[in-house]
Amino acid sequence: MVYFEVNNLIVHHRTYEGVETVLDIDHFEIDKGTTFGIVGESGQGKTVLALTILQLLQCPPGEIISGEILLDGIDLLKVSQRKMQQQIRGRKIAMIFQDPMSCMNPVFTVGKQMLDVIAKNRGLKGTEALDFAIDMLGMVRLSDAENTLTKYPHQLSGGQRQRVVIALALCCGAEFLIADEPTRNLDVTIQASILLLLKELQTKLNMTVLFISNSMGLVSAFCDRTAILSGGKIIEQGNTSDIILNPQQAYTKLLVEAASLSNKSAPAHSGVEVLLKVEHLKKYFEVSKGLSKNKQQLKAVDDVSFELKKGEVLGIVGESGCGKSTLVNTILSLFEPTGGDVWFEGQNAFLKKKKTDNAFKKNVQIVFQDPFWSLNPRWFVKDIVAEPIDAYGKLKGGERLSRVNKLLEMVGLHKEDAFKYPHEFSGGQRQRIAIARSLASNPKLVVLDEPTSSIDVFSQAQILGLLKDLKDEFNLTNILISHDLGVVNQMANKIAVMYLGKIVEFGPASEVFNDPRHPYTKALFNSIPKIDKMGMENIVTLEGTIPSPINPPSGCSFHTRCANACEACSEWNPYPIYVDKEHYVSCILYEETKEE
Ligand code: SF4
Repeated sequence: MVYFEVNNLIVHHRTYEGVETVLDIDHFEIDKGTTFGIVGESGQGKTVLALTILQLLQCPPGEIISGEILLDGIDLLKVSQRKMQQQIRGRKIAMIFQDPMSCMNPVFTVGKQMLDVIAKNRGLKGTEALDFAIDMLGMVRLSDAENTLTKYPHQLSGGQRQRVVIALALCCGAEFLIADEPTRNLDVTIQASILLLLKELQTKLNMTVLFISNSMGLVSAFCDRTAILSGGKIIEQGNTSDIILNPQQAYTKLLVEAASLSNKSAPAHSGVEVLLKVEHLKKYFEVSKGLSKNKQQLKAVDDVSFELKKGEVLGIVGESGCGKSTLVNTILSLFEPTGGDVWFEGQNAFLKKKKTDNAFKKNVQIVFQDPFWSLNPRWFVKDIVAEPIDAYGKLKGGERLSRVNKLLEMVGLHKEDAFKYPHEFSGGQRQRIAIARSLASNPKLVVLDEPTSSIDVFSQAQILGLLKDLKDEFNLTNILISHDLGVVNQMANKIAVMYLGKIVEFGPASEVFNDPRHPYTKALFNSIPKIDKMGMENIVTLEGTIPSPINPPSGCSFHTRCANACEACSEWNPYPIYVDKEHYVSCILYEETKEE
């Protein structure tokens, strides 16, 4: 008997505008102990499917019209809510949701939440329950489990929270796990460790996994079989390797292409004129030490120097908290620098002379990460886009509007969009509005702070294409921050790899991507699932979390996580060692190279 199958499932969604079919699935099945991937961009019905399986779909507006969902021969659609709650959810099927913060209760400690679940589903109390909770946290590789139990969700890092959520999901002994984009918004290193953990637990507990994702790269690493969901229908399914190597449907081909693009590097740039020079830039924050009045220094950016030539794209990569955003915000004078200088076209950008200050602000613009927060919801698009024109230009009335219309058309929007509000647009369209705004003052340098992290794969590919076209058209210079190394690989001519406030490797993108030298860069690149190398064997994860910049490790700050660390590393003071003309690495391993 097949362990899990879905047959002729039709789900409607009723709105004021009419009835919409959100799921229309003929058939798919999952064998016991295997992993089945459901892939599609946002809005294709992936999460609706997961909620329908668990009878958690809100009805109305949802309505299950027909079909059956069989788990071990039991039709879940015919099971009463009471039985679902007492015997199925948690005990037979567990689910890991996308956002661990929203599925944990922020006002209870991890311990309280785990003990409640254990008491209810396992009937354990007191020390027995506590021991079980500690075992579960140990199983998901959370060190210091007893301490973790006393913490509130906000006191944990993203990776730790997701591990707690996995422990909570597995507390009740379910053999079928639905993982709904479990690594969304996580760094590549944490993503890799969570994927490896899930794979290990699946093997150990003989679990069956339904893995929901929008990334063919992740599915290629994790899933035995895969189905492509488009418009609520499964348009293609089969062995993951067959789907990736020989996609049949145009939509599947696009998904595979979107994942493969990340393997193609941007060409080198041959510019000579320096546009931006950053010299020994530091940004330290004063933070309170617990409840005492004593202050400590958090070194968010610590002695960073680099040059950017006209027309170049510099990609800055590194895990969350490494100082990427603080670095660009300090360059843009959005943060007061603690030390160092920034030179733009030969002028010191930190000397607050009105004339040079205005020229710097006009010439350097930024596109923020989240298009949902970076646009004023009460303004018409025309006013959002015209903000830099009003600040630095002299256009009024019809001229102002025609400039806005031109900018909107340049980013692929229509002039009618000028009189709409941001909420009337999708995520990708909003990011186009933000890009139009960034170009309004005819800048020379545009900083892109994670420009595609909040949008789905197709919009991401379109936005990246648009950014490349605009860069060529206006001879723009860009600084691109991203935790998605694929995005950086496509766009950047140069790469700066940051760890704990410092640049640990810097060089031409093709060299850094093809021949990374610093152990941290290598670990970062090895964490990414690659569509051309299927299976989890090709993912190597970086253990441990980034240390606190308040109290960084002595010597090379990476030595606590470095696979190549030697005794000297905890005392050696890192400095850039050139391994090629423009390529430097701060690592003791290259000291000999320098001496030769
Ligand atoms: Fe690793 Fe030592 Fe190099 Fe730091 S200096 S990256 S710890 S080998």
